[in-house]
Amino acid sequence: MKVLVVNCGSSSVKYTLFEMESEKKVAWGLVECIGLPEAYYKRQTISVDEKKDSVEITNHTEAVELIIKDLLDKETGSIVNVNEIAVVGHRIVHGGDKFSKSVLVTEKVKEGLKECFTIAPLHNPAHYAGILAVEKMLPKIPSVLVFDTAFHQTMPDYAYMYAIPYEYYKKDHIRRYGFHGTSHNYVSRRAAVMLGKPLSDLKLITAHLGNGSSITAIENGKVIDTSMGFTPLQGVVMGTRCGDIDPAILTYLLDKYPQYKSGDALNVLMNKKSGLYGISELSADMRTILKATAEDNKRAKLAFEMLCYSVKKYISAYYGILNGIDGLVFTAGIGENSAPVRKEICANLNALGIEMDVKKNGEYSSKERFVSTENSKVKIMIIPTNEELMIAKESKKVLTTSN
Ligand code: AMP
Repeated sequence: MKVLVVNCGSSSVKYTLFEMESEKKVAWGLVECIGLPEAYYKRQTISVDEKKDSVEITNHTEAVELIIKDLLDKETGSIVNVNEIAVVGHRIVHGGDKFSKSVLVTEKVKEGLKECFTIAPLHNPAHYAGILAVEKMLPKIPSVLVFDTAFHQTMPDYAYMYAIPYEYYKKDHIRRYGFHGTSHNYVSRRAAVMLGKPLSDLKLITAHLGNGSSITAIENGKVIDTSMGFTPLQGVVMGTRCGDIDPAILTYLLDKYPQYKSGDALNVLMNKKSGLYGISELSADMRTILKATAEDNKRAKLAFEMLCYSVKKYISAYYGILNGIDGLVFTAGIGENSAPVRKEICANLNALGIEMDVKKNGEYSSKERFVSTENSKVKIMIIPTNEELMIAKESKKVLTTSN
């Protein structure tokens, strides 16, 4: 069985075709800069090396058409007939409180997704365009939606509510949703395999540290709390996002500076100009920050320390909420690759039974591994995330159970 995973952004379509028996990807790529003169198509298969071409693509439908035609290419394609694709899995950033699990696409589901546009104006309209494009190109193939928010729907109300007047929860659905759910879900399952125990017997903290970052407390396979909130802005310090700040800073800026009279300007400030980038005034990229820190750039060092400190605070808080943990997982670009960040986060947490083996932590590998000492009560794991595979597995499961 083959499953096609699609991730549509406002100007991009990413895809991965999986062979589900082996759970290996057979073809993958992306169309980027849709609607712009610099649009390009980059793709690769297990037997054909990466190729990148400029393309003229004005919308998502054309992008999906290009991808399907390429998958069917007589010489370099990975399928002979579109019917080899059993199901298409779409990554959806925000399911609001309407969707607590993955669903098969129906007209009603599409309407529900549209109702979530107001709380995810940057992502959900693009996902919707992608769903329509896939339906047009593959009218006979079922589609499944897999939501970044769904895994977090088990949070108790006292964790997901904000202490603002209750009417805004009722009217506007303002509450914590949490994001990166597919990644937290995937790595928590892998952690259970690594620890040799069922997920239902484990307490875990998973740290997804990438350009966007979130920390999640998981007990018996269920999310108890997560650091991102109503939007992916809340929580730890990120590449260009500020994470937690005193909300009164916004009203202060709004009252003082004419340019911040609009929500848009404040959103740009908090989402694009803050975080590592805003503090260092150098870069949002952790590699650049680490290099500059080594060269004694004080602001880069401050940005690095702030990010690590904010993650440490969440880990410590979630440790308390869970009354101890069995495992701490690092994943995503920074979590998987940056030994100095992991080391700084885990330093002086031995009171919590978190003891890192600094030597193991410093050895590079792209594989799942333990980096805690033999005696560490909490097992520290690095687990490369695989959101695409998780989406493919979820889509297969939904398809199989709906038949
Ligand atoms: P992601 O959003 O998961 O793709 O992660 C992007 C982040 O991972 C960026 O801040 C990168 O600088 C960081 N990253 C990727 N590789 C490394 C590395 N080898 N060392 C440190 N940071 C890295």
